[in-house]
Amino acid sequence: MRRLPIYFLIDISESMIGEPIQNVEEGLANIIKALKADPYAIETVWVSILVFAGQAKTIVPLQEIADFYPPRFPIGGGTSLSKGLGHLMYELRSNIIKTTHEQKGDWKPIIFLLTDGVPTDDSRTAIQEWKQNWQKSTNLVAISFGQETDLSLLTELTENVLMFNNSDTAQYTAFFKWVTDSIKTSSVSVDNSASGFELAKLDDKVISKIDLNKKTIPQEYIDPNYVVLAAKCQNTKRPYLMKYKKVLNDSPFSDLGLQTVAYRLNGAFQVDNSYYELSDQSVNSFKINSEELIGAPTCPSCGNQYGLAICSCGKIHCIGEEEYSTCPWCDTKAQYGTGGGGFDINRTQG
Ligand SMILES: [Zn+2]
Ligand SMILES: [Zn+2]
Repeated sequence: MRRLPIYFLIDISESMIGEPIQNVEEGLANIIKALKADPYAIETVWVSILVFAGQAKTIVPLQEIADFYPPRFPIGGGTSLSKGLGHLMYELRSNIIKTTHEQKGDWKPIIFLLTDGVPTDDSRTAIQEWKQNWQKSTNLVAISFGQETDLSLLTELTENVLMFNNSDTAQYTAFFKWVTDSIKTSSVSVDNSASGFELAKLDDKVISKIDLNKKTIPQEYIDPNYVVLAAKCQNTKRPYLMKYKKVLNDSPFSDLGLQTVAYRLNGAFQVDNSYYELSDQSVNSFKINSEELIGAPTCPSCGNQYGLAICSCGKIHCIGEEEYSTCPWCDTKAQYGTGGGGFDINRTQG
């Protein structure tokens, strides 16, 4: 039986933490469940899941649906599209069976690229390599989660660039049903020896195709921008992330139509040590002023009452009621008071 390889290349940068990544996790589990029940898909479809942030990694190697067990997703720092693409090309080179005189190879692989961010590195070389070696021999569907993505880069990779309106759980459900339907129709299509690639019909409210000729971004739209801060628990030494969502307030000078930007706490999330493995190790100097942040979480790792204490080394950790706190990053002991005024905090690349 000829295989129809389906690759998911998923952005797991910090802005995906919390609800988005949970929705993706559930969505993929539902896709697999639906495909297991589909007689065409179970015969032909093979699935692999790759993730990328500052680094890229295979979390599920290419395998038959019957053996597939839905994975949990890690989170990393940075959005390296070039490493994601590079890793995808490596996986394709290693796994795809080519047609030869002796055997019929795989059907054209279908790749779903899901990303919500702007790459934090230069991806031109990887895109060039993609165009030269893989663009024609695969079907790539690039899906932007929200409108923050650098669409011009995605449109260089493929003509199938779609915008997913990831506003709530119902939209995610509809989106993953659309992915499932697209895989199902494609697996029927290969069975009929047709093209082997057919996207299901789009519901414009959930997912819409980007028209490359008219780049209009609705003006009333507020960017779903996030600030994410990386911290370490003083007690457990485990990393955690604090996610803040952008809010716009009318400034005191609102006659002038000015708005001030602030970031409101969205949640604090424990991550495991794979966070470092998947993060871009290069030093970053992104700063956010503490006065722009609204709210501070408790520590999601040990429950300490304040998760946003900043050591003189510049790193963030939790503090409790202890008189002297020890920075889990640099081991400095210090006494913390409540500071007045704003100060700069290192933020992650997202
Ligand atoms: Zn803690
Ligand atoms: Zn320190």
